[in-house]
Amino acid sequence: MSADSSKGARSTWKPETLCVHAGTHRDAATAGVCTPIFTSSAYLHPHPQGENVYQRYFNVPNQRTVAAKLAALEQGEAALVFGSGMAAISTVLLAHLGPKDHAVFQADLYGGTLHLVTSELVRLGVEVSFARTLDEFRAAIRPGTRVIYVESPSNPLLRCVDLGGIGELGRKHGLTTIIDNTFATPINQTPLALGIDVVVHSGTKYLNGHSDMNCGAAIGSAAAMRRIREAAMNFGGSLDAHACYQWERGLKTLALRMRQHNENAASLAEFLEAHPAVSRVNYPGLPSHPDHAVAVRQMRGFSGMLSFELREPKLVRSVLRRFQVVTPALSLGGLESLICVPAQTSHVKLSAAERLSLGIRDGLMRVSVGVESIEDLISDFTSALDIAATSSKRRRSRRG
Ligand SMILES: *Cc1c(COP(=O)(O)O)cnc(C)c1O
Repeated sequence: MSADSSKGARSTWKPETLCVHAGTHRDAATAGVCTPIFTSSAYLHPHPQGENVYQRYFNVPNQRTVAAKLAALEQGEAALVFGSGMAAISTVLLAHLGPKDHAVFQADLYGGTLHLVTSELVRLGVEVSFARTLDEFRAAIRPGTRVIYVESPSNPLLRCVDLGGIGELGRKHGLTTIIDNTFATPINQTPLALGIDVVVHSGTKYLNGHSDMNCGAAIGSAAAMRRIREAAMNFGGSLDAHACYQWERGLKTLALRMRQHNENAASLAEFLEAHPAVSRVNYPGLPSHPDHAVAVRQMRGFSGMLSFELREPKLVRSVLRRFQVVTPALSLGGLESLICVPAQTSHVKLSAAERLSLGIRDGLMRVSVGVESIEDLISDFTSALDIAATSSKRRRSRRG
C-alpha cells in the first residue's frame, strides 16, 4: 500500500482549481477524495517522519491542508490556521512588536483590531500611530517603526489604500507590512503579489462563507511565517482538526461564491445609487467611489460589501424592520445577505463627533450582499426603502 500524500498546487492552476484541489490530503488506506479528520492529540515518539506532530504546532494534516490551500490562493509560500481572525491578528502583531517599538495602523480599523491595539498593545508599551492615505503612512514612519498595518477595502466605507505603495514603503524602511484581506478575499485581491509581507484573515467571513464557524489565518513567505509560527506555538491559538475539515469544505466553493457576491453587490450598488431615498453609496466598483481608480488597479473584483446612506437617518429603524430576505445582523461574508447600522453597532461606543470624523453618519447602513437571487434582493430593498422614498418625495414636494 502506498503512503498518504497531499496534493501540491501546480503554479499554473487558476483560483477555481486551487479552491477545489490545493492541499487535499490523499489517504492511502481508503483512497477517498476528501481529507479525513485526524483527531489524535498524541503521536508516536520518535515520529517516523522525525517530526513532533501536535495540533498546537500547526502540523496535523487537516491544518496543513487548509494552510496549503490558503497559501496557494494568496500566492504565499506558507500559512497558519488559527481559532479566530483575532487569534491570527494578535499573534502576527505580537510576533513583530515589543516595548518601544512603533507601528502605524490604518485609522478605520476593524473594531476588534482597534481594541487590541489601543488596549493590549499600548499596555505592553508598543507606540502606535494612525494614518489613512499613503502620504499619511509615509509621514508617520520614524526610526523605531516596525510595522505598517492596513485594511483595504475598509469597514464600513470601503476605502482602499494603494497596496503597491505600502509594500514599497515597507521595503524602503525595512519594516513588516501587514494587511487584513478579509473583505476582499484572495479571489479579488492578492496583496503578497503587490509587495505586502503578511496577509491576515478572519476566515469566519468569506473564506469559510457559511456563517457557521470562527477561524483565522496568516499567510506569507516561508521566512516571514517561520517567525510567526514560533510565536504562534507559544500563544497557542491553533485551529482544531474538526474545524479545519469544515473550513476546507467551505473553501472549496470560495471562487464560486465570490463570483456571485461580486456580481450581486455590483448590481445592488447601482440600484441603490439610482434610488431617491439614498444619498450616497460606498462601493469600490462604482466610478463615484473616491478610491475607484486604486481599486481597479489592485482588485480583480470588488467583493460583496457595500454601504449606503439614507437621506433621512430617522427612518433607519423602520427601513430595517421591512426587510423580508435581508437579515439585520452583524458579521459578514456568509451566503445570506445581512444589514447593519454602524452608528448603532460597530461604532456605537464612539462619540457622535468621533463617528462624524470617520465619516460614519447615523443614516449609514452596511450590507453584506449574499448569494440569493439578485431579483429577490432588489425587490426586498425596493419594498424596504419604499417608506423612505415616499417620505423624502413628500418632503421635497412640500418644500417645492
Ligand atoms: C470579523 C473580522 C475580524 C475578526 O475576526 P474573528 O474571526 O471574529 O476573530 C478581523 N478583521 C475583519 C476585517 C473582520 O471583519
